Order: sequence, then C-alpha cells, then structure tokens
Amino acid sequence: MSSRRPKSSGDLGSCELEASPRLWVVARPRFDLASAEALLDSEGLSWRVGEGATEAENLIEMGGRLCYLSFGERQSPKSNREYIRHLIVHGHESVLEHASWSFVLMGVSRGFSHQLVRHRAGFSFSQLSQQYVDHRTGPMVMPQLVQRVPAAADRWEAAVENSREAYRELLRLLKEEGADLPPREKLRAIRSAARTLLPEGAETKILFTANARSLRHFLATRGSVEGDEEMRQVSALLLVLLQREAPSVFADFKVEELADGLPVVRLRSQGG
Ligand SMILES: Cc1cc2nc3c(=O)[nH]c(=O)nc-3n(C[C@H](O)[C@H](O)[C@H](O)COP(=O)(O)OP(=O)(O)OC[C@H]3O[C@@H](n4cnc5c(N)ncnc54)[C@H](O)[C@@H]3O)c2cc1C
Repeated sequence: MSSRRPKSSGDLGSCELEASPRLWVVARPRFDLASAEALLDSEGLSWRVGEGATEAENLIEMGGRLCYLSFGERQSPKSNREYIRHLIVHGHESVLEHASWSFVLMGVSRGFSHQLVRHRAGFSFSQLSQQYVDHRTGPMVMPQLVQRVPAAADRWEAAVENSREAYRELLRLLKEEGADLPPREKLRAIRSAARTLLPEGAETKILFTANARSLRHFLATRGSVEGDEEMRQVSALLLVLLQREAPSVFADFKVEELADGLPVVRLRSQGG
C-alpha cells in the first residue's frame, strides 16, 4: 500500500502529495464479567464463559444468551465463535450492535470521506473542518492509479498546486470582506468561500464510531468494489483491526490482493 513514486520535491511548502490511509482503534468495548456473573447469580443462573473471547465478543454472547436465558443447564456447548456465527447465520444481528469501536482515520481524501459518511445506521462521525482549519498547506491524497503513470502524476500535481494557489489567492482577495461580522464568523465566511476551490483529493481526518453490525454491512457493501481503490484500502485496514478486536464476528471476511497490488475485502463465501 506504499506509494510507488518518490514524493514531490517541488516548491510546495509543506504540501505533502501522497498521503495514504492510516487507521487506529482509539476506543473499544469493556465488558464487566464480574458484574455479569453477579447479576446472573442473583437470578439463580450461571454462565460458563468460554476462554479466549475478547470483551466485545463476550458482550455480544451475553446479549444473545439473555434473549433465551440460555445459561446454566440451558447453555449449549457452543464456543463463542460458534455462538456468534449462529447469531449471524440466523439473522439475529441486532445483538451485534452492542459492540462498537471508535477509529481515527487519516490520510484519506475528502472524496472518500463523502462516501464513508453515507453510512447512516450505527455510525457516528467527527471530521476535520474546512471552515475552522486553514487548508493553504497540508497533505493531498494522490490516487495510486495516478502514481503509476508519471505523466498523469505530473498533471495531477500541477492541477493540485493550481487549485491551492487559487485557494490562497481567494483568502487574500476576500480578507477585507465580512467586516460587519464577528471575527470568527468573518473567517468562517472567507474559508467557506475559499474551500470551494479545494480538490476532492484534499486529505481529511475523521474519528468515527461504529458498531459490529454496521461495520459488517460496510465491509460487505464497500470492501470489494474493485474500481474503488481508496475504499478497498480502508476496508482492508478496518478488517485487520476488527479481526483482532472480535475475530468471531469478522471471521467470514478475508483480505485478498488484486493485480493492482491493492487489497480487496470479500466474504469468504464470495468467489473471485
Ligand atoms: C458501488 C456503489 C455505488 C454507489 N453509488 C452511489 C451514487 O452514485 N450516488 C449515491 O448517492 N450513493 C451511491 N452509493 C452509496 C449507497 O447508495 C449508500 O448510500 C451507501 O452505500 C450506504 O449504504 P446503506 O444505505 O446501506 O448504509 P446505511 O446508511 O448504514 O444503512 C444500513 C442499512 O440500514 C437500512 N436503512 C438505513 N436507512 C434507511 C432508511 N432511511 N430507510 C430504510 N432502510 C434504511 C438499510 O437496510 C441499509 O442497507 C453507492 C454505493 C456503492 C457500494
């Protein structure tokens, strides 16, 4: 996933041209097993908790078991992985909504983030502002497709620098406007006008929180759209993290590599 072309050494200040996606988990479910056992005990129930499940997986399993009171003698010998697989296969997926994670994603384009935020169910977003944050410099996301064709990369760089120069020029030309507004609103007005010149390749940063069900839907819908390289890259980063966080929940997805050297995320049941 690294760039194949040296970074630009042109006179672009701190304008980095080849940002690539980076993803971190910054919050994850905590499951209070002692509490769960105490409350079950108060109902005369017990739960044989399987070994090795993560807190997210235990939370989901407890949600499922509570629906049927399948504790104590009613507990089937299924492992956590089998139990969660059973929930998914039988469409009892609302239980997956109890586990959610928060991620910070950087090095992606505004164009990409516009697609990401279309996911409404079970997702929450906090994204870098183009009104409060100056964009005269900063990273840009050059598509890998463009990086592979030197003439296209040169054209792309020139176009990006033109639009950023126009952005800077507009900030200068508008700096006396909005004198009747409070200073903060004046700046917002000027940046709002100038941002219309920023390319879709402008790098953005976004913190998002999503639950296991919505993440599965995202991976299934977006991970294998072969012509969407940025979406494929982010989906693969996401899956690698999620298979550490809750392997039972995401075991039916796999990462493959296509001929362009970039990953694709598929359901194991999918061909290709
Ligand atoms: C290949 C591809 C091409 C696309 N092209 C375009 C495009 O050209 N233009 C465009 O605008 N978008 C496009 N999209 C985005 C797409 O239409 C969805 O907005 C996006 O994928 C989010 O999917 P979703 O609505 O299923 O997800 P979510 O919003 O997370 O919803 C998850 C699920 O919840 C249910 N749901 C959510 N909201 C409602 C509701 N209001 N009513 C009923 N059920 C609901 C649905 O079952 C839905 O699948 C494209 C997506 C893909 C994968």
